[in-house]
Amino acid sequence: MMRQEHGITVAVYPGSFDPVTYGHLDIIHRAAKVFDKLIVAVLNNTSKNALFTLEERMELLRKVTADLPNVEIDGFRDLMVNYMKQRNVRLIVRGLRAVSDFEYELQMASTNHKLNPDVETFFMTSKPQFSYLSSSIVKEIAKFHGPVEDLVPAEVEEELRKKFPQT
Ligand code: ADP
Repeated sequence: MMRQEHGITVAVYPGSFDPVTYGHLDIIHRAAKVFDKLIVAVLNNTSKNALFTLEERMELLRKVTADLPNVEIDGFRDLMVNYMKQRNVRLIVRGLRAVSDFEYELQMASTNHKLNPDVETFFMTSKPQFSYLSSSIVKEIAKFHGPVEDLVPAEVEEELRKKFPQT
């Protein structure tokens, strides 16, 4: 069950990752243990005002997942189900934080399943200390030069400092 071609179970973890946080990284570590291969797919969403470019977001993800051999970083700007068809993957991993994520995630999961009934979405939770952590919160703190070292890896902290230089 759930085996892909060549007997390998592949899942895709899509998101904006603007930038990647310890919450995302926790989900990546957990999913990389469950699935044979995990593709972290960075969405180039033109309707969202991103702080980091697609390339920057992918580069940071590559750095912080360098120790995980079965994790691949990719980018996409297509409809999720189209991208998955193109990559021949039918499993989606999403992270669930507080209840506030639930309605949007439910809508996405049912929409994707409707667009392609072969597509299944798996939800994973992160450690409780990350359950209120989001990229937006991190950006808000970094903008005012507050401490973000407990929220993002050092590589991300450094890039945030460059985006919001102290004058
Ligand atoms: P999007 O813009 O699609 O919401 P994000 O980059 O914000 O993308 O998040 C991608 C996925 O990671 C989503 O499923 C989101 O719920 C999940 N996620 C983000 N932060 C956390 C966290 N702290 N704990 C668990 N899951 C998280």
